[in-house]
Amino acid sequence: MAQYSVEGVSGVASNHDDLARLASFFGGEEAINVVKALAQAGTTTDDVIATQANVRLNTARRILYKLYDHALVTCTRNRDENTGWFIYHWKLQPDQLDAFVRSRKKKALGKIHQRLEYERGHSFFMCKDCLNIRVTFEEAMESAFRCSGCNGQLINEDNGRIIQVLEDSAQRLESDLSEPPSF
Ligand SMILES: [Zn+2]
Repeated sequence: MAQYSVEGVSGVASNHDDLARLASFFGGEEAINVVKALAQAGTTTDDVIATQANVRLNTARRILYKLYDHALVTCTRNRDENTGWFIYHWKLQPDQLDAFVRSRKKKALGKIHQRLEYERGHSFFMCKDCLNIRVTFEEAMESAFRCSGCNGQLINEDNGRIIQVLEDSAQRLESDLSEPPSF
């Protein structure tokens, strides 16, 4: 099995965007710390990971099991010759991690494209008093341009800003995906 280089390891630790994306999926800041600890340690036990990541052992295990469930880490079992107990060694799978991040980015990009199509294909109306009211032209017609919350007049909304934000996000994801693997 190929060992990954020191550059690969620092790549994991420094690629903040990808780590943040992963972390939001696997359980926040603690998950970032666990992945970083794993990247730095190479192959190690949950005890060591918990200590280095500065999280509780149960937390480290919960995150490791989740990562394992997505094949992002491997786990090998050895018997401790002194105690006779099993010891589990964990190792990050950088290739899998990259594939995982990419597939999530592709999914996110697909959603953004769908939303863009929707935003471009409709006119929207909103109530200036009820922030949660936003309807399409067709829906506004049905209610005679009255707000379903306060019965006030619905006004046409310019969604140019929303479209701009979506286009920027799509562009960022597309450029990420066109780059070679970062792990
Ligand atoms: Zn209203």
